[in-house]
Amino acid sequence: MPFNRIVKIAVPCPLYKVFDYLLPTTHAEKPVQAGMRVRVSFGRQTLIGIIISEVSTSDIPVKKLKAVIAVLDEHSLFNTDILKLLYWAARYYAHPLGEVLQTALPVYLRNNDDATPTLNEYWRVAAHTPQHDKAQHSLKRAPKQQQIYQLLLDSNGLDASALNALTENWRAAVKALLEKHLIETFTRPVLLTQASLANNLRDKNLNPLNDEQKTVIKAIESHQDQHAVHLLNGITGSGKTEVYLKLCQSMLANNKQILVLVPEIGLTPQLTQRFLQHLDTTIVVLHSAMNDKQRYAAWHAAANNQAKLVIGTRSSVFTPLPELGLIIIDEEHDGSYKQQDGFRYNARDLAILRAKHKNIPILLGSATPSLESLNNSNEQRYVTHYLKKRANKKPLPKTTLINLCNQKLHDGMAETLLAKIKQHLAQQGQALLFINRRGFAPLLMCHDCGWTTTCQRCDAHMTYHKRRNQLHCHHCGSQRQAPSQCEECGSHTILAIGAGTERIETFLQQQFPETAVNRIDRDTTRNKGSLQKKLEQARSGESGILVGTQMLAKGHDFPNITLVCVLDTDQSLFSADFRAAEHLAQLITQVSGRAGRAEKPGEVLIQTHHPDHPLLQTLLHNGYQAFANAALSERRAAGLPPAHHLVLLRSESVSTDAGQIFLQQASDLAKQANINNIDLFGPLPAPMERRAGRYRFQLMLQSKQRKTLHQLINWWVPQLQQLTMARKVRWSIDVDPYDTY
Ligand code: ADP
Ligand code: ZN
Ligand code: ZN
Repeated sequence: MPFNRIVKIAVPCPLYKVFDYLLPTTHAEKPVQAGMRVRVSFGRQTLIGIIISEVSTSDIPVKKLKAVIAVLDEHSLFNTDILKLLYWAARYYAHPLGEVLQTALPVYLRNNDDATPTLNEYWRVAAHTPQHDKAQHSLKRAPKQQQIYQLLLDSNGLDASALNALTENWRAAVKALLEKHLIETFTRPVLLTQASLANNLRDKNLNPLNDEQKTVIKAIESHQDQHAVHLLNGITGSGKTEVYLKLCQSMLANNKQILVLVPEIGLTPQLTQRFLQHLDTTIVVLHSAMNDKQRYAAWHAAANNQAKLVIGTRSSVFTPLPELGLIIIDEEHDGSYKQQDGFRYNARDLAILRAKHKNIPILLGSATPSLESLNNSNEQRYVTHYLKKRANKKPLPKTTLINLCNQKLHDGMAETLLAKIKQHLAQQGQALLFINRRGFAPLLMCHDCGWTTTCQRCDAHMTYHKRRNQLHCHHCGSQRQAPSQCEECGSHTILAIGAGTERIETFLQQQFPETAVNRIDRDTTRNKGSLQKKLEQARSGESGILVGTQMLAKGHDFPNITLVCVLDTDQSLFSADFRAAEHLAQLITQVSGRAGRAEKPGEVLIQTHHPDHPLLQTLLHNGYQAFANAALSERRAAGLPPAHHLVLLRSESVSTDAGQIFLQQASDLAKQANINNIDLFGPLPAPMERRAGRYRFQLMLQSKQRKTLHQLINWWVPQLQQLTMARKVRWSIDVDPYDTY
């Protein structure tokens, strides 16, 4: 009976099951494949779901089954290795399959039935012609046209959605400007080749490889047809990227596709340019700033083997690549590979699994490998390669600790530090100051009664942003006007306690009025393109002092930086987060790598009240590797990753106790199972108990045996939905959590 073909469909909803539907009569004679999209009615909505399989029977009487509204694709959107990866990931991260599959699709395909988008039109200022001046003159009488013209002049092209965000009623003005030939229409190609580069940038030869690089490449190339995880442990500036490029060249020569994952902030035009310069091939870049159509077009080019190389951030790990031959993960220790909400996957770990399924090599690169990767390398699960020298033979910078105890501080900076900045500027160097806190000051305090600016919705202080005269909560986003007097006692003596990037910037600009001080943090780089502009200014040496948050710590090559200062280490030394020490060590090592990369030797200063702290001592005298080994033993002793495995069940609720009761029920349920070898901790309040008006609790599961832990959660998590409290709280499961907040 052809009308009764039954298919199992994963629907994007937070339920741990798939749903049976009938195929429509229009599709009765046609084949179906796992990974094809369908439109279905689900509850009161119509949603786009994904076919998992065709089955011959259903637990539900056929009469009661709904029919699929429409089958949207002729073929599966995923190849088998991606589907296998996604099924595995849904189990491993104990996340509903429908949402997992949804995450792997480009947004465009999640929302549009049609799978053939046309690219957006963009407008830009046209090249200058003799008629131009007269036409431009006419804009004086057409303010809207003048405004649009100026917007386009200030950008490198805008599309309708960008213009909508900037202004309104612009369509008539754009039309008029097009008629006057002042502006022109173009589309942005998603497929990049060397032809996309300016002439003088094309076809650069790689440096002749040094011996260390040759050894690494030989070792990897001699096994390029089989799976292995290679860890490239190479100091900053040791030529890791050149190793990637060389490996890409030989893979491309064999007609293979390559996937390069980079951290959120590491995906700069400079990096893309470097790949284009050295690889005569087709490249697509996938990042969050692209619009949905562009992203889909890029994804499509990869899936069709038109694009040979994909460079992208976290979610690019799901890009179908039929001829995939190599995966590269740059800065593998970076936290942005872990998704922190919804489907909480780790792209590095999934990439490793993908490479294993596909039987291809994967290369993890870092100057500061994660403790997870070092542990795997120690236990011979990874093949480890070292690059111990800087490729340009420049020595690593000298690092000095500045003891802050009893020192007079100027907005958080010691006098010795200020003297050093002065000295480096005098010698035409640039200084980079690093502090992981934006805003002017982390709180305001009344000098008379001690009242502080706390957030009403969180257990946290509100940060003072002086230029806007506002208080911002960095945890829930609340904002309000900064008070001019104490809200408790009315006093007008209000102190700004502590220092963030804005305060440092302001102080240094006063101290060094002749020098351009550039602040790079989330507040100064909100506008599209502003980060690139600032980085360009920094690279060109235009700004003599750079003040920034961790945005500045990664990957960027500023040739003229000679002094790097880490202003605040004490917070991380005593943090409750079990990864804080690891992050601090990575940060110090990475920011230090920014100093003295080119001609002039570099110097690094680290401010602390605890210069004798063993972490700092080990790191400075024996290096990151020694620090990491010490940290690994500590983690082992404490039963923490990577020696042990963690799963965190988090709850959030408006009432103080609902979340706690839910977790207690969850805990009781888990105890019904045989949970030998698993330790349960909690429910305990989260380190920040109240955030955005909700009370937060967590239950932690810890085990030395990953398998046991997963057996439990695969049984346990789907049942949590049935608990009486489950509907009254928000809850989420985090397997291999990145932090415990
Ligand atoms: P990493 O990725 O390890 O930070 P890069 O690959 O960016 O290092 O290399 C750092 C600098 O050294 C770059 O300017 C690069 O062009 C240069 N470099 C890399 N390999 C060599 C080499 N074999 N000979 C000379 N210079 C090199
Ligand atoms: Zn007061
Ligand atoms: Zn808040």
